[in-house]
Amino acid sequence: MSIKAAVMTAPQQPLELWDIDDPVVEPGGVLLETVASEVCGTDVHLHHGRLSSVPYPIVPGHISVGRVSESNGVERDVLGERLDTGDVVTFYDVHETCHSCYYCLVAGQPNRCPRRRVYGITYSAREGPLGGWAERIYLKPGVKILKLPESLSADDVIGGGCGLFTGFAAVERGDLAMGDTVLVQGTGPVGLAAIAFSALRGAGQVIAIGDPSPRLKLAAALGADMALSLSETTAEGREATVRDATGGRGVDVALECAGVPEAVPEGFRLLRDGGTYVIAGHYTDTGSTTINPHLDINRKHADVRGRWGLDFGHVYRALGLLARHRERLPFASVIGRRYALDQANQALADVEGLEVTKAIITP
Ligand SMILES: [Zn+2]
Ligand SMILES: [Zn+2]
Repeated sequence: MSIKAAVMTAPQQPLELWDIDDPVVEPGGVLLETVASEVCGTDVHLHHGRLSSVPYPIVPGHISVGRVSESNGVERDVLGERLDTGDVVTFYDVHETCHSCYYCLVAGQPNRCPRRRVYGITYSAREGPLGGWAERIYLKPGVKILKLPESLSADDVIGGGCGLFTGFAAVERGDLAMGDTVLVQGTGPVGLAAIAFSALRGAGQVIAIGDPSPRLKLAAALGADMALSLSETTAEGREATVRDATGGRGVDVALECAGVPEAVPEGFRLLRDGGTYVIAGHYTDTGSTTINPHLDINRKHADVRGRWGLDFGHVYRALGLLARHRERLPFASVIGRRYALDQANQALADVEGLEVTKAIITP
């Protein structure tokens, strides 16, 4: 038997439909039948070749939901829940973190471990179906599998997808205090999750900047008190609005979830003195921008933080909150369109053109 997969063979090339050999399920391995995988903004950037060390050809799709179809001795998920054939699960896309290098052991930052690999990004299609844009996904021994909580559907989880976890991680990295005014730059899946989790964490006020208008409506529905259109306002106008809303000071915490270099100088301008700025939207290299180190960082006494990748804890805790506060985190409603494997090129084009907020692949 073989597995149909949409394969990104090289940057800028149309994706191809490949037949990949069915893997031998090793002891500790699990084979999933894919229920849904997502098209993340990162996939668009991978298609543009904006991340170094990607071993093209790859099967994209780093966050996915699947049904257990075969397991070689894996009886429980990572938290001890019983795992049976037919159970619907998701899994932590990061694998092979070594727990024995400087970053793992000394720096306490396994997200910078040089050995870590990521499903759908840093595994080659020649190594097997190790991404979600395929009929089946092979989970190697040791992959952290999470059975979905009873109350959550596959759509709830994949509708949030990577952005749900990344937005959660951005809010956490911002150390948001209850009552703080938060600026979220970007209203794509990461920004929308950052808005929702900021509101849930007790922000006094959430201000979003983004586009197009359907995303601004979602931003408001998910908890933004103010959603400013990037195209219908000027930078000066946005600054005046934010200063008006913050007693002239600027925001306490700014979360960059846009992935656009020009957002960064604006974020500094809208941040109050001594505020915290998290750069979470630049997972890939989309270029440079100019900041003024004196005005933007030093004199401002700004606390600037990067946010690279996810820890398992972000996935676990974000899913727990999604299960607990489903009505405040209605991410299934963010799904704009479902695409078959042979429509993967269209899915990428639609995400790039902002035609849909969340595109999912349903093999
Ligand atoms: Zn390591
Ligand atoms: Zn992603």
